[in-house]
Amino acid sequence: MLRRTVRLVPFSSPYAFAVRTIHVAESVEDMIQYQRRHRDQIGFVPTMGALHEGHLSLVDQAKSRNETVVASIFVNPTQFSAGEDLDRYPRQLEKDIEMLKQRGVDCVFAPKSTAQMYAKDALCHVEPARFSNIMEGIARPDFFRGVATVVCKLFNIVQPASAYFGQKDISQCILIQKMVRDLNMPVQVIICPTVREADGLAMSSRNAYLTASERPVADVLYRALMAGKEYCDQLTADGVEVDTAAVERAVQSVLATEPMVSHVEYVSIASHTDMTELKTLIAFEHKSAGAVISSAIRLGNVRLIDNVLVGRAIDDILSVKR
Ligand code: AMP
Repeated sequence: MLRRTVRLVPFSSPYAFAVRTIHVAESVEDMIQYQRRHRDQIGFVPTMGALHEGHLSLVDQAKSRNETVVASIFVNPTQFSAGEDLDRYPRQLEKDIEMLKQRGVDCVFAPKSTAQMYAKDALCHVEPARFSNIMEGIARPDFFRGVATVVCKLFNIVQPASAYFGQKDISQCILIQKMVRDLNMPVQVIICPTVREADGLAMSSRNAYLTASERPVADVLYRALMAGKEYCDQLTADGVEVDTAAVERAVQSVLATEPMVSHVEYVSIASHTDMTELKTLIAFEHKSAGAVISSAIRLGNVRLIDNVLVGRAIDDILSVKR
């Protein structure tokens, strides 16, 4: 067990002895012992580290709703396919722990090794049926099984009352909501809005891969998705049917304006309840029916994903409103 301490107030202050500590659990056993010592309900923020304001917005939400907040930092190998960026994924554990401490997190679960989390002869995993057929699942064949399995294991270790996820990874949010429901896990899933850079680029640990020439044009993805959303939002008269092929064209036409986009992996207009592709959207109650417009593109060698919510999806998905 490690206990790190930071002074929050200057020595001249009458509260000079106020200190904040953060418990760093480096093993599953240590984390389980911490969880048992804490009678308070735990709010939990799972991450892979290389933290930014997007992650910290989840921490803020957890802090505002729970006495005790636990974050995890674990680059989960089972959600990476061969040839993906597991080996070069950015790692900055000490800096991350400091950021979490400053933000008031009580405990960080940072397993020291993969062996802590996965037995060599592991037999069981969580298989999210059908998610391998959605756009992001086709693009990343091992991703959803890896995510569902690791989040299930983390929930069993940390035993949180609530867990906080970002809209940035929308299919992951929908998957976790379904897993919790299907497997009767006693965890409330809270989905928080995507935090963006000033130009609209969704914050991501992988943005560190962007070169100096790629970064200034990386906002093209958000601009393209917003063009699709605006197309849907214009057609809000009840009963009006929107052809999703036209929405896709609106997105693609903006992506096509940027020569540095080397590949468009997909543009998806999907149901916000199960991420299946939609052919039409029908407006009712002066709102287009719920949908998630999402896309994955390559800017040079960097893969960027993002999404926007349309119509009813905004109210149905987001637990936290902007
Ligand atoms: P990761 O470390 O990429 O696995 O992300 C950990 C959590 O942070 C996931 O729930 C992500 O959806 C969330 N997250 C990542 N980027 C953002 C962002 N820009 N805004 C809000 N949440 C985010």
